[in-house]
Order: sequence, then C-alpha cells, then structure tokens
Amino acid sequence: MQLSNRITGITGGGSDGWEVFYAARAREAKGEPVANLTIGEHDIRTDPSILDAMHAAAMGGHTGYASVPGTTELRAAVAARVQARTGVPSGPENVLITPGGQAALFAAHMAVLDPGDTALFVDPYYTTYPGTIRSAGGVPKTVVARSEDGFQPQENTLEVAAKGAKSLMINTPNNPTGVVYGRDTLDGIARVCTDAGLWLISDEVYDTQVWDGTHISPRTLPGMAERTLVVGSLSKSHAMTGSRLGWVIGPAQVISHLANLATHTTYGVPGFIQDAGRFALAQGDGLEAAIAGPFKRRREIVLRALDGQQVVRATPPQGAMYVMLDIRATGMSGAEFALRLLDEEDIAVMPGESFGTSAAGHVRVAMTLPDEAFGQSVARLVAFAGKMAA
Ligand code: PMP
Repeated sequence: MQLSNRITGITGGGSDGWEVFYAARAREAKGEPVANLTIGEHDIRTDPSILDAMHAAAMGGHTGYASVPGTTELRAAVAARVQARTGVPSGPENVLITPGGQAALFAAHMAVLDPGDTALFVDPYYTTYPGTIRSAGGVPKTVVARSEDGFQPQENTLEVAAKGAKSLMINTPNNPTGVVYGRDTLDGIARVCTDAGLWLISDEVYDTQVWDGTHISPRTLPGMAERTLVVGSLSKSHAMTGSRLGWVIGPAQVISHLANLATHTTYGVPGFIQDAGRFALAQGDGLEAAIAGPFKRRREIVLRALDGQQVVRATPPQGAMYVMLDIRATGMSGAEFALRLLDEEDIAVMPGESFGTSAAGHVRVAMTLPDEAFGQSVARLVAFAGKMAA
C-alpha cells in the first residue's frame, strides 16, 4: 500500500551523520566502554523532589484527562515566569502546554505555515528542524551562520533568504554551537522579520544555561511580541527530558488555535506531569542554577584543555550543553574524525556535518559526563587531533 509523501518525506533521506551516535549506542548495549559525548542529556536524573510531587499528584487523582491546552495553574506559572524574566505582559491565554519542546516546535510551525510555504532556519541546526518543518507541510530552507562569524546569523544573509518565506526559526542559546545571540544579531533578526512579514519561532529551551552575556528573548524587542512564538521546555532547565513537558508562548489568538490542534493530536499532557512541572517551576532560580552549573564548569575544563595547542579550536561556548570544536587543522572531515576517535579512543562525539553544512570540519561535544571523566575525554580528544595533524 502507498504511504503518504508527507510521512515518507519527513527525514529528507540520505545519510544524516548519526552513524557515530548509533555505533556508540551499540557499544554501550554490549557493555563496551565508551565516553558518550553525543547527545544533550544531563548526567543527573530528575530531582527526587519533583518525582515526589508527580507521585503525590497521581495518587491525589490527577490521572484523568487533563485540560487540553494545559492546566490553568501551569499556564499561569509559565506566563508569570516569562513575564518576570522578559517584562512582556503574559497570561495563561498566551501559553499552550505541550508534550515537550519538540511538540511545541511542530505546533508553532503548524500555526504559521500553509502547505508548500517556505520556512527558514539557521544552519548549523538542531537535527529535528527540517523534519519538523516538513511534518507541518512546509519547505525547509537554511540560512547559513558561518564559523567565521562566530555562528551568529548575519542580517544581509537573512534578508536575501527572507524573500518569499513565511517564517524563521532561531535557537539561542544554540544547539549545536553553544553560541548565544547578541543584541545586534537579534535586532537584525527583528528588522528582517518585520520588513519581510515573517513569523519568528524562537526556540529558547536552553534559556537557563547562559555563561557569557545574557539571554535576550526576541519577543521583548519592539513590535516582535505579535509575530513571535517562543518554544520552551523543562527538559534542559530542570533535567526533565523524559517527562515531556514544554510550551509555546505567543499571541492569545494563536494559542487558541493551537489548543484546537492539541485537541486533535496530543489531547494534552498528563495532569500529574503538569503538576510536577508546576512544582519544578516553583523551586525558582536555585534549582535551575544547580542544574546548569556543571555545564559552566565543564566549559572551563574544555577551554583549559585547548590551551597551548593550535590544532583544535573552540568557538567559546556561551551557553547550552555543547561545545563546537573546529578540527579542520587535522585535514579530516568531522565525520571521519568522529568515527576514528570512536574506534581508536572509545570517545563518541557528533560530526559537525550532522547539523548542516556550516559546521563541516567541526565536531560537537556534549558536556554531559562528570567533570573528571569529561576532562580526561577532552584531553584525549585533543591529543588524538594533534596526532592526526602531525
Ligand atoms: N530544541 C533544541 C535546540 C533541542 O536541543 C531540543 C532537545 N535536544 C529540543 C528543542 C526539544 O527538547 P524537548 O522536546 O525535550 O523539550
């Protein structure tokens, strides 16, 4: 039987550079040692106090159908948090609760794209972006952010790409580069969106993990609140990846339409998970800082490990859980380097090519091992690169 083009076309086909990840997983399954620095998952689990709140909510009876757009209490808590952090007036009517940030990315594109519309996103990009756009019926189109520009997208490049497009998706703090967009970059993005009539989808799932500068949400920029849909999640900020709890923040009218989408797709998020999310948010900045802290320390570990050599260069990570290392001086592609590093050193990192074209010749290191093991792995990676370059 014939399947739909939509479903068979989601991934776009071809090699996606995830061989290293699958090879590392296979080794782990066989019990072989591997330092896995591939994916963005904390080396700690969800805090027991949050699990206690989840259990109490479930035992208290919150196991039936929950309010589809999210409980009023959680929507209000998310709105209060974003208003406190950005100053943009926000209420529950501006928030849709979703099963994780990924579902929020899909919902946001469903809200703004008609079939065949062009949706822009920045290369290097988080792997699901093009498939998410295709799932929503859109045509994905990249805007290149070059390593030479510190992976900050340039206004003139955006301007050219914006012609005929419907939306632009950005991600700051950024996966895979660890870069945080500065005020100039965001002002340029806002100008392009306003001039070209684009919707902006702002993926801010790493907003609590910023080491240099400050996170600026583009929803705060003049004229942007009415055309920006912010995607957030508790996955990274609260080490709740498996709880699948995220949101879209935007104009009330958009959110009410997205509630219709939720009714006909997810039918909402389990009530006891939402209650646990509300508990997690109520713990305030302290818990978020404790969860973010290790990545800040490990960024220093990476930068120290690179001292006194010229082969591996970092775009200094300003936020998120990753560092992008430029290994072009070895003469190898990111994929070649990553495969040999796994074979010879039992260290798994992601080839830059997995994230588009502009991170070719780079590898992304997730800073997700305990400090000591992480430091040893990075030191071995640097020594391996030195050997390859020699
Ligand atoms: N956006 C980015 C940039 C991510 O890295 C991730 C997860 N790795 C997500 C969105 C989705 O996160 P979740 O669905 O777990 O909230």
